[in-house]
Amino acid sequence: RQGVVVITGASSGLGLATAKSLAESGKWHVVMACRDFLKAEKAAKAAGMAKGSYTIAHLDLASLDSVRQFVDAFRRSGRPLDVLVCNAAIYRPTARKPTYTADGYEMSVGVNHLGHFLLANLLLDDMKQSDYPSRRLIIVGSITGNTNTLAGNVPPKAGLGDLRGLAGGLDGRSSSAMIDGGEFDGAKAYKDSKICNMLTMQEFHRRFHEETGIAFASLYPGCIATTGLFREHVPLFRLLFPPFQKFITKGFVSEEESGKRLAQVVSDPSLTKSGVYWSWNKDSASFENQLSEEASDAAKAKKVWEISEKLVGLT
Ligand code: NDP
Repeated sequence: RQGVVVITGASSGLGLATAKSLAESGKWHVVMACRDFLKAEKAAKAAGMAKGSYTIAHLDLASLDSVRQFVDAFRRSGRPLDVLVCNAAIYRPTARKPTYTADGYEMSVGVNHLGHFLLANLLLDDMKQSDYPSRRLIIVGSITGNTNTLAGNVPPKAGLGDLRGLAGGLDGRSSSAMIDGGEFDGAKAYKDSKICNMLTMQEFHRRFHEETGIAFASLYPGCIATTGLFREHVPLFRLLFPPFQKFITKGFVSEEESGKRLAQVVSDPSLTKSGVYWSWNKDSASFENQLSEEASDAAKAKKVWEISEKLVGLT
């Protein structure tokens, strides 16, 4: 049978390109989990995705209620779940003040990490029941959360500290809006959320891979300098960033190519290993990359997991 893949944030950028690539292969039915139904429908049509190759379902990761409703609706659809891709993200580099999710958590960590954390935990049960030969749970990471790289050393650097802000509820009142308890910084909040994504993937692997056989993976798809992720950046940055990545760092990757990379992590028979952070070299060949010390800290992953479970109401 066709595989069923759920992709969050499939209304633009990497998520859309991945949805298109998988739908076109004919091997996958793609569930596009998006906060803006109309935008997703228009994007799928504009990308030329064939009717019937995809379904759009409502999911706003800035609300834990919405996450639960998405899971209920997915279960009612009667489809099995074979692969889940946690792709959606927001990046607010120019924000001076934090904004908050419906549940009162700082938006970048709330959407990118906590919303996905709840979603992945709830849908794990559905994946366990699937009879698909290669089930995978993928969380999109980023080089920016990895301080062992050049890009990861551009200030403000990612760092979760002793997690005091996260443990305090990231509400900007009784606790800081930042995981490490520091002053709000929108760019850092994004990077921190990406470390949480990579730690979560590894903790899933440690807790559930042996028991379930599900492969847990993360990836850095390359710098896709043209996506909506940079929509809140200053205009000059948006103008110069793509050529800078193309000609200076040479890390630039097109949306189409990045979509093919993520589609490989979903479906390629050679990318089944669990607990891996995938990257691609300049010839577009995949390899297992190294995470930074903090992004591979098992004790920290466990702590982030336990605090996150409380914040999303799983314990
Ligand atoms: P885009 O901004 O193009 O896509 C992000 C997607 O997330 C959009 O579909 C957006 O929906 C969705 N989204 C945002 N907030 C929510 C929410 N509250 N609920 C549901 N969906 C939401 O960015 P990219 O394609 O670049 O980013 C995709 C992933 O790739 C992210 O995880 C990012 O961290 C990662 N990444 C990107 C890199 C890059 O260079 N661009 C590099 C490394 C990693 P909407 O269309 O409604 O806004």
